[in-house]
Amino acid sequence: MATDNPPSLGRIVILGGGTAGWLAAATFSRAWKMPRVTLVESSDIGIIGVGEGTFPTIRTTLAGLGVAEAEFLSRADATFKQGVLFDGWATDADSYFHPFNMPVGGEGEPLLPHWIAAGEQRASWADSVTVQERVIRAGRAPKRPQDPDFSGPMNYAYHFDAARFADYLRTISVAAGVERIEGTVAEVERAPDGDIAALLLAGGKRVEGDIFLDCSGFGALLIGQTLGSSFTGCGDTLFNDRALAMQVPYDRPDAPIRPYTLATAHEAGWTWDIGLSERRGIGYVYSSRHCSDEDAEATLRRYVGPAGDALAARQLRFQTGYRERQWIGNCIAVGLSAGFFEPLESTGIMLIETALRMIGDLLVPGTRATREAAARRFNDLMRARFERIVRFLKLHYCITRRTDTAYWRDNADPASIPEDLRDLLAQWRHRPPSRFDFTVDLETFLPPSYHYILYGMGFRTEPARPMPGAAEARAAFAQVAAASRAAVANLPDHRTLLHHYRRQSAPT
Ligand code: FAD
Repeated sequence: MATDNPPSLGRIVILGGGTAGWLAAATFSRAWKMPRVTLVESSDIGIIGVGEGTFPTIRTTLAGLGVAEAEFLSRADATFKQGVLFDGWATDADSYFHPFNMPVGGEGEPLLPHWIAAGEQRASWADSVTVQERVIRAGRAPKRPQDPDFSGPMNYAYHFDAARFADYLRTISVAAGVERIEGTVAEVERAPDGDIAALLLAGGKRVEGDIFLDCSGFGALLIGQTLGSSFTGCGDTLFNDRALAMQVPYDRPDAPIRPYTLATAHEAGWTWDIGLSERRGIGYVYSSRHCSDEDAEATLRRYVGPAGDALAARQLRFQTGYRERQWIGNCIAVGLSAGFFEPLESTGIMLIETALRMIGDLLVPGTRATREAAARRFNDLMRARFERIVRFLKLHYCITRRTDTAYWRDNADPASIPEDLRDLLAQWRHRPPSRFDFTVDLETFLPPSYHYILYGMGFRTEPARPMPGAAEARAAFAQVAAASRAAVANLPDHRTLLHHYRRQSAPT
């Protein structure tokens, strides 16, 4: 007999209440309207509490949760982010911008050869093909007060306070029916077929489930410790394995807030500098093979200046890499339990969003065989994404012209560069990157991002053949310059727009 009730996945149990766990809980309960979702979190263990920079996909994710932008901005102490400004990466005296806006003319390829031919007199690649570089340098917001929620003239993401974001997601998920259990998992009970049957908490509580999401952070309690999924380390390519983080107050309440992440290169790593509305989040990501913890702290303190004198720096240790299988049986890893890269391009939260989107499509009720087929697909796609992110992150380092420290020299050593990236770089000496270099569905970063990094870093391409359309290209560059001036004039100051949203969300 036909029934109106859709087939059910049973009870979903999420282990972990960080950004991954609560974003999953909010997505299951609010976006997908799933009824039986339980989340277990441990205040004894806590959350990692960093992870302040996001990617533009977060707007679609938040809109899907049905929240108001003003409420989110105020509850998560969030600000707008329009890309990353890299300072001192190619040489210690240069900077370039990786904006979120796409270049004019789509992926920008038609204009690239003309920009290359223009030689040293030209503006930067980002400034030639988007208005966003001038917008951020002028401290402007990406949108105006009258623009609809989660959209505006500029492409944008957010910076936010990770702990406040998790609190906010907890509140809206519990209101949507998610059961929250406070407790520490002491043991994991297996079913005879190898699936996870239940989580056994210290104190004796047993939490049964049909599907388990492992959002337990670096500990990877389910996917790693229980199910033994192997970890592929990428430390030979991406050297950084430690970070020191600080929360730094502004020197005055109306200090300007940068609408972008500032990533400054140092002797053995780089600092992130993120402006929230009430404080800055600053951290030094470094390689323990290339510098001691004491030297790293001295570098961070030098960067922060007197504002950091009375502040403690918190150290985080990590291993760069990913789990080969992120879905095994009835357990799917999301977040740090699945893998982690240094936060250079905010891939952490974006990979959580990607995994959740895939789970939404692939996880359906069915037989064990259907679930295993879905798991194979998920694992293949996630592994490919992680591999390609390694390549993109390494690009930021390996074409440096810095030779001042072993860290930078080692980063440019061909032995540390993945073979596929070495092959591409050799070709890109004679032609710009092409869409045919990429399998777009597996990429997190599309060709325009490669263009921004390569040419921002001063990479030289000597095209093998002349390109028609030089006059049209000159006209396009002139239009961008004029549009940049108009955008700067029409967009509000970043802090002013944040005040506007703050007033909107204040209880009356
Ligand atoms: P966690 O926040 O660690 O949460 C794990 C949860 O599991 C906690 O609730 C914990 O209590 C619970 N748990 C663990 N074990 C048990 C147990 N036995 N019983 C019960 N509960 C348990 N990402 C970005 O996108 N942008 C960034 O700018 C960025 N910066 C970063 C900087 C650094 C230095 C680091 C290390 C990471 C950064 N990340 C960034 C990554 C980002 O922080 C994470 O992807 C994100 O916070 C998700 O973490 P999580 O929820 O997987 O883990």
